[in-house]
Amino acid sequence: MADTGRALIGAEWREADGTFTVYAPATGQPLGEVADCGPELTARAVDAAAEAFPAWRAMPAHERADLMRAAARELAARAETIGAIMTAEQGKPLAEATGEVLSGADHLLWAAEETRRLYGETVPGAHADNRIWLLPEPVGVVAGITPWNFPVSMITRKLGPALAAGCTVVLKPAELTPLSAIAVAEAFVAAGLPAGVFNLVTTSRPAEFGAVVMADPRVRKVSFTGSTEVGRELIRQSAQDVKRLSVELGGHAPVLVFPDADPVAAARAVARSKFLNAGQACTAPNRIYVHSSLAAAFTAELVRRAEAAELGPLIDERAVAKVTRHVEDALARGATALTGGRASGGRGTSYPATVLSGVTDDMLICREETFGPVAPVLEFDDCDTVVARANATPYGLTAYVWTNDLNRTIRIAEELQFGMVTVNGGPLAPPQAPFGGVKSSGYGREGGHHGVADYLEYKYLSVGLGR
Ligand code: ADP
Repeated sequence: MADTGRALIGAEWREADGTFTVYAPATGQPLGEVADCGPELTARAVDAAAEAFPAWRAMPAHERADLMRAAARELAARAETIGAIMTAEQGKPLAEATGEVLSGADHLLWAAEETRRLYGETVPGAHADNRIWLLPEPVGVVAGITPWNFPVSMITRKLGPALAAGCTVVLKPAELTPLSAIAVAEAFVAAGLPAGVFNLVTTSRPAEFGAVVMADPRVRKVSFTGSTEVGRELIRQSAQDVKRLSVELGGHAPVLVFPDADPVAAARAVARSKFLNAGQACTAPNRIYVHSSLAAAFTAELVRRAEAAELGPLIDERAVAKVTRHVEDALARGATALTGGRASGGRGTSYPATVLSGVTDDMLICREETFGPVAPVLEFDDCDTVVARANATPYGLTAYVWTNDLNRTIRIAEELQFGMVTVNGGPLAPPQAPFGGVKSSGYGREGGHHGVADYLEYKYLSVGLGR
């Protein structure tokens, strides 16, 4: 059992009136107790962030950058320790967890550099004696709400751009993975970040946290990553105070493998993105449309990769139940499990890497986000209508295309209604690229200069030069 985890509010590591227990998905055993902060402590965290804001905002950009770089170094130096905590409380394999911490540090570094490029604009004046400028200003205190599937990188992807922009942050991690978040906060404290710039509120009562930050006029922006359902609720709440929001919500990513693609390369890449984090990613492929001429070669390789994949347990029993429901529905409606297809049983919450063939668009698995290691393969013959099938979802986060035809690449990429399209592989979330969705997958971007702009207001300054 870890020591009791505390919340970071201003300069203090605070206990709360109660605690909640964090469990290891691999064993079901308790890992530690964490401060269960109520509305009162959330309000104190907003106080701390509001007090720290003027000085953080006024600090010269290169000094802010130095502190953020120091935090990135601290995080990277602790990658293995934090990785082990993440593996214990979230379940992903250690190499994935350590890699996530290093990638989180990289996001911070990139954002740190960006502080020195927060340029404004000079705009032509309306007449000879008029000058117009756009001044970038931090939006103010930001509340961040993060999910459990990437317990560190989801935090750094909000903190990096927010701190770079000059905002201060109150962050609430997912109640299933607060220990990783506490370890991130410790790295920031060790780096010498001024008190109150980053506050961490742990709680088992997320709705209470949401209600406090939404009702507090000092919080000028809320950045949320999580389910579409909770996202909708936050959008409704934000109307009251006309608060700025970024919401990164669910996805239902299609993969399109066209007849001119390399089926083996495509299957390898699909297996990587499908089985990463046991499929618990909003970018995970959910519907894999493969041209029938390639289906045999593609599926054979996908099954090989599935059988070799290293998978951790799913996050909890509810996750296993959802995956089971989707697979059973598909099997009952005529799909075939080429590998996997049934919960492993025993201790923990494991589900094996599964490949389903003979899947059709009407199955549950093609309509709801599975969030598990199941790869549903749908064959197609008509290259002209498959894009419409890919677009037939309320979600619009990621789409994957495999083709070597240049005309098709451009045409399809333009037709796909998704915030991110990758053709023939490639990373989705490098720090320099704007990650985010359209439609019910949300709005706002994380990464790149667009990501930093999400934490800025551009003030329009008009000056008359009357004598
Ligand atoms: P998931 O289904 O993946 O757990 P959620 O949307 O429930 O996704 O959780 C994502 C984050 O949102 C977590 O930090 C969770 O605590 C938080 N959350 C859940 N419900 C609310 C709410 N009503 N208000 C604010 N945050 C919430």
